[in-house]
Amino acid sequence: MSNKTLAIIKPDSVGNNVIGEIISHITKAGFKVKAMKLTKLSPEQAGNFYAVHKERPFYQDLVDYMTSGPVVPLSLEKENAVEEFRKLIGATDPTKAEDGTIRKIFGKSIENNAIHGSDSDENACIETTFFFSSCERV
Ligand code: ATP
Ligand code: MG
Repeated sequence: MSNKTLAIIKPDSVGNNVIGEIISHITKAGFKVKAMKLTKLSPEQAGNFYAVHKERPFYQDLVDYMTSGPVVPLSLEKENAVEEFRKLIGATDPTKAEDGTIRKIFGKSIENNAIHGSDSDENACIETTFFFSSCERV
């Protein structure tokens, strides 16, 4: 699974009509799209997806935001995908993200930060299975 990661184009990006521009950044950086869909998360799904943050003060706001509109999950393939993709999207807070990163270009705030990327190979597999049938067969 070290060659795959899971991305989610978040509701602010879908609402701002920049799905295509963001995918263009992703594919120009050498990632292959293995699976993709447009879907709307239920509060239960968003809560489960971000369950690691359950005890954090921003958890409810995060769940509300992630259910505020459609999202576009993508299974992406590239060598060293998880680390390479985290570099491409930049820091969680767009104001601290490096120039040229997706969050710097498209993110507005730490909550409305345009895109998600898996943080480990293990989570990439779990998160891919969350949206698509399995992580090996996408
Ligand atoms: P993501 O998991 O969405 O790719 P990340 O891995 O960079 O983001 P996490 O620490 O996993 O950051 O936080 C998950 C999400 O929770 C962030 O994308 C952000 O929207 C929100 N978040 C994180 N920290 C804060 C905070 N201090 N205040 C408000 N929201 C936060
Ligand atoms: Mg994270």
